[in-house]
Amino acid sequence: MESGKAWPSAVYFHVPFCMHRCGYCDFTLVANRDRLIPDYLQCLRKELEHECRDVPRPWSVRTLFFGGGTPTHLAAKDLEQLFSIVGEFFVLEDGGEFAVEANPDGLDEERLNVLHDFGVNRISLGVQSFVDSELKTLERTHRTSEAKDVIHRVSERFTNTGADLIFGVPGQTLASWNESLESAAALPLKHVSTYGLTFEPGTAFFRRKKAGELRGTPEEAEREMYLRAIQFLQQRGFGHYEVSNFAVPGFECRHNLVYWHADEYFAFGPGAARYIHGRRTTNVRRVTQWLKAWTQGEPCYEEDERLASEDKAREAIMLALRLRAGLDLKEFQKRFGVDIEALCGDTMRRAVDAALARVSDGRLALTQDGLMIADSVISEFLA
Ligand code: SF4
Repeated sequence: MESGKAWPSAVYFHVPFCMHRCGYCDFTLVANRDRLIPDYLQCLRKELEHECRDVPRPWSVRTLFFGGGTPTHLAAKDLEQLFSIVGEFFVLEDGGEFAVEANPDGLDEERLNVLHDFGVNRISLGVQSFVDSELKTLERTHRTSEAKDVIHRVSERFTNTGADLIFGVPGQTLASWNESLESAAALPLKHVSTYGLTFEPGTAFFRRKKAGELRGTPEEAEREMYLRAIQFLQQRGFGHYEVSNFAVPGFECRHNLVYWHADEYFAFGPGAARYIHGRRTTNVRRVTQWLKAWTQGEPCYEEDERLASEDKAREAIMLALRLRAGLDLKEFQKRFGVDIEALCGDTMRRAVDAALARVSDGRLALTQDGLMIADSVISEFLA
């Protein structure tokens, strides 16, 4: 890293441990290999020492985000050690966001006490469904009653409690999806994320689908579920602020907004990608390879790129289009010194003519039709 320049004010930590691997999951993690946790903590310290060698200590940041895997799979004493190590390098500024992803099972009082004592103020729970048969299909290890109980317990002590939900689960119907949405809205949640199930190559679900054991949800039904989430959650007071994310106003995920605003961030842990001073480096994804590299005291990047100014500008457009508020065109020109018209005028016009995007009040944003196929509309802006 270079000195003499401003350092990011957002930090991500990847904690790659889970009890077991759910059939649809292709995240960077190891399942049922808790004996690697002490090595992980040691290696994380080495990575922090190396990557932050020019950063004043502790560096004050606005957001700290621990994702996974399941960060709360770590035992209370390991969580304590993790946060203590991080505290040597980063300090959260007053009013900052300290977010941790968690699963409903295993989130006991001991762990909650550690999270609370270290200042965590946002917990994002991997609930996925409030229908037990769907949880079973998804190979989740908790039950609906457990998730509801945990949400109550967590929200009593933490300002911002969120839940992730999945639509397009094999066997799910619009009625059962409604049941999950109704349950979420009846609980003290401040944030809801909804994701369509994908069958990623390399996952057990991908193989089972190929073998005809699992059937995906027809596109039209998935679209209906997504639309239903948008309408229902908005009616129940959740603002739809990003393609997949809804929040009670003021409870939007500030860490993720850093990504969507194309700002820079630190990141640590296997598979984590950081973006600092225009350079993006992505750590090797294999947990054991990352551990091996840091045991020897060496970084091991899978990707290392310095973004050219045009790439930065295009990326900023693509990320901002994920936000319902879209891209502020004047701000864009000021920041990147280029007019969007010169960069991708044709793409923008095609999207607007097809009613997939619109320009109003000086902002370019996706329409509702554009949202339904957000990934493909947004990817047009790449080239
Ligand atoms: S709990 Fe989450 S991160 Fe862990 S295997 Fe399941 S889906 Fe993946």
